[in-house]
Amino acid sequence: MTVTAKRFAALLILFLLSAVGLLASCAPQNIDTVRLRPKAEAGVLDMTGMAMNKSIALDGEWAFYWKKLLSPEQQEQRAPDTYVQVPSAWGANSAVDVERYGYATYALTVKHDRQAPHMGLLIPSISSAYTIWVNGERIWDNGRVGTDERRMDPHKEQQIVTIPSAEQETRIVIQVSNYMHPRSGITESIELGPVMTLSREQFKQAAYDMFLAGGLCLIGLYHVGLFLMRRNDKAPLYFAVFCLVISLRSFLTGDTLIYRFAPSVPWELSARAEYLCLAVSVISFTLFLRQVYPKEMSKRFIAVIISLSAVYGGMIALFKLRHFMFLLPYFQIVIVVAMSYALFVFVLATFRRRERAAISVGGALLLTLSVFNDVLYNQGLIQTGYLVPIGLLIFIISHSFILGMSYSKSYALSQEWAAKLQLLNSSLEEKVKERTIELEEANRWLERQTLIDGLTGIANRTHFNAVFQRMMEKTAPGRSIAFFLMDIDHFKKYNDTYGHVAGDECLKRVAGAIHDLAEQNQGTAARYGGEEFVMIAETTTEEAAELADRIVTKVRNLLIPHSASDTGPWVTLSCGVVAYTPKAEAAASLVSFIQQADQALYKAKEKGRNGYVYEPFIVQ
Ligand code: GH3
Ligand code: MG
Ligand code: MG
Repeated sequence: MTVTAKRFAALLILFLLSAVGLLASCAPQNIDTVRLRPKAEAGVLDMTGMAMNKSIALDGEWAFYWKKLLSPEQQEQRAPDTYVQVPSAWGANSAVDVERYGYATYALTVKHDRQAPHMGLLIPSISSAYTIWVNGERIWDNGRVGTDERRMDPHKEQQIVTIPSAEQETRIVIQVSNYMHPRSGITESIELGPVMTLSREQFKQAAYDMFLAGGLCLIGLYHVGLFLMRRNDKAPLYFAVFCLVISLRSFLTGDTLIYRFAPSVPWELSARAEYLCLAVSVISFTLFLRQVYPKEMSKRFIAVIISLSAVYGGMIALFKLRHFMFLLPYFQIVIVVAMSYALFVFVLATFRRRERAAISVGGALLLTLSVFNDVLYNQGLIQTGYLVPIGLLIFIISHSFILGMSYSKSYALSQEWAAKLQLLNSSLEEKVKERTIELEEANRWLERQTLIDGLTGIANRTHFNAVFQRMMEKTAPGRSIAFFLMDIDHFKKYNDTYGHVAGDECLKRVAGAIHDLAEQNQGTAARYGGEEFVMIAETTTEEAAELADRIVTKVRNLLIPHSASDTGPWVTLSCGVVAYTPKAEAAASLVSFIQQADQALYKAKEKGRNGYVYEPFIVQ
């Protein structure tokens, strides 16, 4: 990690810690710590002598009438079947035989001094319908209570009700019926207190739920965006689904925000959605983990968790909720196992030094602990309140941070690669340029090789032919062309006398001399073959004879000794020259030039060598 990353991680940890503190301080369950907690005994909560300016949880033993829906008058005249603990599911600690589904009446008498005005009750959602009387007055119906499934309407909503003020005591009677939810009865605390205080608490909870739902929803949508931009990486997609379903679930549970926005949502639909969210969250979270830590996860375990969640989700989605609600505790076991495994994966990843795992272990540990807490709380085994939303938010923030880091890392990596590629590209361009120059040179060399005589370095016949053609095409009518054919005298004897190596040297020097003269006269000389040379130049007929003479003289003046020569002590040559003035109507061929120049050369040899013979060219 770089220094900046370390500093950032430290800041994040600080942020997470303060987030825990902050959230914990606004979490509704925290009210417990400041709330007075007297306990009800045998259906009576004695609060005489106590100030009632704070909210009080009406926990303890409530009078309980099983399979009876009693009005306050009826209840007053009957002894309870038993006393049950509130909050808890009925039948949890009950002395009488109580079934999971059914109906019952709860009653509690709160004894107090003269009660202040504007008192109220904060009633959590009670599964799955209830009617409440306070001091004989029916003050609220939540859904419709009934003696069987068809005669009741479930409804789930947290509610604040104001109660009539009373002198010495407040008598609460609640009829409850449930045929849908696996946990029947009053499973969360009912609170008594000034309406303003209760509203404030409810507002806190709503704000808290809204904060969680909104935060999770935004994080989810952000990750949907990330996924849409890079579809080959599925991790942001699974993470997005996870955040969105948890966000939706926060809307459906706790303060039940959903009813503030849409009061007429059917109980069945919202309950179905709540449990489906749970199943989908387990699936998406497992898939997300598999994507991030593929090496640490067992494929078989993933398959088992996903299949169980899918089966549970499928049952919840397709069949009547009531028949499968009992599965919740079993599914909670699946969640606990999956979370424990996730924690194991995080720890394993840290041990294997997989990057950034250390950050997620912190978040995952908190989340796992909060899941354990909630399962225990949900089962009524501890009284801490729900903590998963906080755990989740911290976990999600830490994971968003991890995803963000992986994105910035891959961005940095792609930049690095882009720079490298650019460098490679430019060096490649350089190389291509170099190679092209080399190739061009090689080409030119090859071209030269095909046009130059290997021994003497002057033009060869191929080159000469081309020059001749060009000249015949370009030369304007009226300008003369002289054609020279030269042959070294007694060259065989030279070879015989001085050897072939010396013969080659001699050829080079003679060629050089002829070439120089050709250049001086804007002509072209070439080796025609053996010890024979040709030359072509644009000259008048007079200049042609003069140039032939200069060639003969120049070669002789090279003073190359030739002791075996009959013509003198030096190497000499004979030259046949023909000159021609091109006319528009007639064209002369190279062959005819050679033939006529050859005849002139023959005559020069005949005349005793070391000289030239000039003849005008005759167009045939
Ligand atoms: P003439 O005066 O009648 O021209 O007699 P010549 O001996 O020069 O003529 P001939 O045609 O009988 O001989 C030409 C000699 O040129 C024969 C050959 O050995 C020699 N020759 C041809 N090409 C080369 C070459 O590339 N290098 C060398 N050293 N000798 C060559
Ligand atoms: Mg010859
Ligand atoms: Mg010769």
